[in-house]
Amino acid sequence: MTFAYISLGSNLCDPKDQLRKALTALEQLPDIDVKRISSLYRSAAVGPGIQPNYLNAVLLLATDLSPTALLDATQQIERNQGRVRGVRWGARTLDIDLLLYGDLQIDSTRLTVPHPRMQQRNFVLYPLREISDTNLVLPDGSDLDTLLQQCTNADLIRTEYPLLRI
Ligand code: AMP
Repeated sequence: MTFAYISLGSNLCDPKDQLRKALTALEQLPDIDVKRISSLYRSAAVGPGIQPNYLNAVLLLATDLSPTALLDATQQIERNQGRVRGVRWGARTLDIDLLLYGDLQIDSTRLTVPHPRMQQRNFVLYPLREISDTNLVLPDGSDLDTLLQQCTNADLIRTEYPLLRI
């Protein structure tokens, strides 16, 4: 069993509902136990054109799935919720990223872990800190509190909505 952190994001088709459906789908998987759930955060979209704001959250999972099997499972959930892969960083109904998988560092064709852009993303770092008891140290030796000091929380709002199961 390994502890893994994943991020959820949506800016289309009722994002709150998308994230709740994703949580429910994850909880129904036999090899995943959802241990912690952050608040929902509203963030400004990064990417091409004018896009709606995102809702984001981070989850802590305990899982018996390998990293690739976990990616398969999260990509299946993305597809089930109507994710169409189009423009890079374009609007999406659901985006699930594998942030951390234990202390592993992975660099394969399908998977880079820790997620390569997590250290600059306030909508990942703030919810991650919310659900981690201690100052997490990443496999490269950087620590979450230092990363947070270097990362503005401009345009990031912690909402009052709980991320509830449907
Ligand atoms: P995205 O558009 O952000 O959903 O990117 C998905 C692509 O990134 C897929 O082809 C994945 O195989 C790849 N990928 C590489 N590393 C990761 C990761 N840590 N989490 C999720 N997808 C990843």
